[in-house]
Amino acid sequence: MAVKYSNKINKIRTFALLLIFGGIIVMYLGLFFQANPLIMTLLMLLGFLSIIASTGIYFWIGMLSSKTVQVLCPSCNKYTKMLGRVDACMHCNEPLTLDKDLEGKEFDEKYNRKKRKEQ
Ligand SMILES: [Zn+2]
Repeated sequence: MAVKYSNKINKIRTFALLLIFGGIIVMYLGLFFQANPLIMTLLMLLGFLSIIASTGIYFWIGMLSSKTVQVLCPSCNKYTKMLGRVDACMHCNEPLTLDKDLEGKEFDEKYNRKKRKEQ
């Protein structure tokens, strides 16, 4: 079973981008309900809220990015940002770890959560 891992920051960014597009689509759909002002207002508001939410997520990524560790990916020789103890390379999705104990072990996102519980 090959699970494709991807970089967490990239994942959040993709989500924020989808949210913006979703918001625009919902607002656009609202234009078709001009006969019904209530539905139109509701859709406009919903679209507006998702755009606000994604702006919030972008802001949050900015905050997270300042806390990430830059590492040189051994597989593609590019610098990537890591979030947590294990993360995937932004460019080639190579699993990376900051923890020597986990080196060589199979990549598992659970390592991030396990550590947090112990602390
Ligand atoms: Zn890489």
